[in-house]
Amino acid sequence: RAMRDGGGLITSLSKPEQRTVARRLRIEQKLPAALEDGAIQAFFQPQLDMTTGRIIAAEALVRWEDRDLGNVTPSELIPVAEDAGLISALGAHVIEVAARQAASWKQEGLGVTVSCNTSVREFRAGDMVTKIRDILERTSCPPSLLELEITEKFAFEAEAEGEIMHQLKLLHDDGISFALDDFGTGYASFRYMQTVPIQKIKLGEEFIASFPTNDKVGRIVDGLVRFGHSLGLFVVAEGVEHEEVYKALADSGCDAVQGYHTGRPMPAEQLTALLREQALSKNN
Ligand code: C2E
Ligand code: MG
Ligand code: MG
Ligand code: MG
Repeated sequence: RAMRDGGGLITSLSKPEQRTVARRLRIEQKLPAALEDGAIQAFFQPQLDMTTGRIIAAEALVRWEDRDLGNVTPSELIPVAEDAGLISALGAHVIEVAARQAASWKQEGLGVTVSCNTSVREFRAGDMVTKIRDILERTSCPPSLLELEITEKFAFEAEAEGEIMHQLKLLHDDGISFALDDFGTGYASFRYMQTVPIQKIKLGEEFIASFPTNDKVGRIVDGLVRFGHSLGLFVVAEGVEHEEVYKALADSGCDAVQGYHTGRPMPAEQLTALLREQALSKNN
């Protein structure tokens, strides 16, 4: 609406809307420098295997705490970065932080894979494959330790756009794996399941939150787990906040969980400490 309003671009907006626009503008202005000076970081949230209870992977989630802007959440930051043409730089930065971390964990014998969220726009830029290969080389991170998360919408679009599919396949051939994020919360189109190289599905927190108290949701989750397994996919549930949900997911045969119940997103050093404890308990 603001765009079409020619004359009174800002004045036609309500006060809270004006503040949002102003904040978005500040985020956009400060983002390039923040990417340069390391202010943009990643937290890591553990994924636990349900049969062993061990941490097998960690999702990298972008974090930015700015002196003036305060905490810039991913839900504010990602859309601004996309609109400002900065999502490729932001995405590459987070992948580099994550790959460096994965390489360091590997060197310490704490092998876990890292998972990074990607936007379809990063692939539209055309140089994603080269960029990722360069990052892996620079950080000495083996491709097998990197997983990329794509949304259903992304997969749907990739299915239709050969240029994007081609890049996914190249990365997959390199040994990078793919996870379908927020599965079951986008629009249902499953054609991409045949063509997009996916190894894992992540059930979105929207489902998990009301599981297992809501019987219908329980059946949907059970069905999605079976659906995933029937395609040979690894199934992760996100947003697991409570023990009862954890137990119900175990009953449904879900492979792994990620949520506040088993670990919040945390600084890398904190996860490193947990991984060291875990490594020690293996030797006992
Ligand atoms: P996502 O990939 O689905 O990540 C999971 C989100 O759920 C994270 O929010 C995480 O903090 C939150 N979460 C984890 N456990 C629980 C739980 O038990 N309960 C609830 N209610 N929430 C939980 P976050 O960090 O705010 O990230 C939001 C979204 O922003 C992510 O959703 C992802 O789509 C996007 N995002 C984050 N980092 C990046 C990035 O580097 N690049 C891109 N393109 N997107 C990113
Ligand atoms: Mg994700
Ligand atoms: Mg998700
Ligand atoms: Mg989400």
